[in-house]
Amino acid sequence: MLVVMEQGATERQIQAVIDRLVSLRFTVHRSTGVVHTVLGGVGPAEQLDPADLEVMDGVKECRRIMSLYKLAARPFRPDNTIVRSGNVEIGGDRVVVMAGPCSVENRDQILRGAEQVARAGAQVIRGGAFKPRTSPYSFQGLGEEGLRMLREAADANGLRVVSEVMDPSQMELVSAYADILQIGARNMQNYNLLREAGRARKPVLLKRGIAATIEELLLSAEYILSGGNYEVILCERGIRTFESYTRNTMDISAIPVVKKLSHLPIIADPSHGTGRRDKVLPMARAAVAAGADGLLVEVHPDPDRALSDGAQSLHPEQFEELMRQLRIIAPAVGRIL
Ligand code: PEP
Ligand code: MN
Repeated sequence: MLVVMEQGATERQIQAVIDRLVSLRFTVHRSTGVVHTVLGGVGPAEQLDPADLEVMDGVKECRRIMSLYKLAARPFRPDNTIVRSGNVEIGGDRVVVMAGPCSVENRDQILRGAEQVARAGAQVIRGGAFKPRTSPYSFQGLGEEGLRMLREAADANGLRVVSEVMDPSQMELVSAYADILQIGARNMQNYNLLREAGRARKPVLLKRGIAATIEELLLSAEYILSGGNYEVILCERGIRTFESYTRNTMDISAIPVVKKLSHLPIIADPSHGTGRRDKVLPMARAAVAAGADGLLVEVHPDPDRALSDGAQSLHPEQFEELMRQLRIIAPAVGRIL
């Protein structure tokens, strides 16, 4: 807690604030500047509303300088966290590309899809077996059968697997097949699921909710970290704004903001971020240029026949072009692909 006193605040006013902070179990550090006296209080800041101090005589402003999240905060680990899955490192020098269809649809689709994305340079295959669909009448995913096909396709092509868990009851099953557990945008604040993910022994890919602030994203990560699972990868996937041309508004600025606030790796999903296949490549370029540790991209062997998210899924040739361009951009920002 940082309390800036008014210019000319009296010694009595300053002492009253110090006494108040001490009574609330804060340790107070006083800095007497030429113009202002500043009091730095270290203690249970989350239990104190800054406004309670701001109404005291002689106080100019009061700010909580300790974030609500602690384990996810940068000071907890000054160096970047590197999340490891097999020989894939997320948060290191290499930009990690996770690609594949929105949903696992059938064996042939996922085998072809895996082969195509692996050839282009992806390290992880994505594919939902449990799908959070806006309409209950839309394709809901193949469940365990889909996970089995996804695993087979990944193993045949030397890829790791990321797949979504929608409910705590699915955690064990998805963990048996996937290397990285995805928590989708709609579930970012499903606290039971977050707690279950905290008990999991696999990395978790946590997507930003459609109307979530960056602080809320980091607080959701905090649930997983505080449960003992430090392997969390954040994902910017676009947020809902008044703009309707694109499916979501891809918040590229979230990448440098998260980098400053947290040590956790952050990847970008330009597919859900835009909802349109022709916008995926420019936003992928922007995300890597902005410092993203990786990308999550929807690619389908035949997007026009996809059972979900076809409009935002790249054709395999488009994905190859994306990888080609990112191989040029990544070194320009000190990364490799
Ligand atoms: C997905 O990755 O297929 C997905 C459903 O994403 P989101 O949770 O970001 O909508
Ligand atoms: Mn999708």
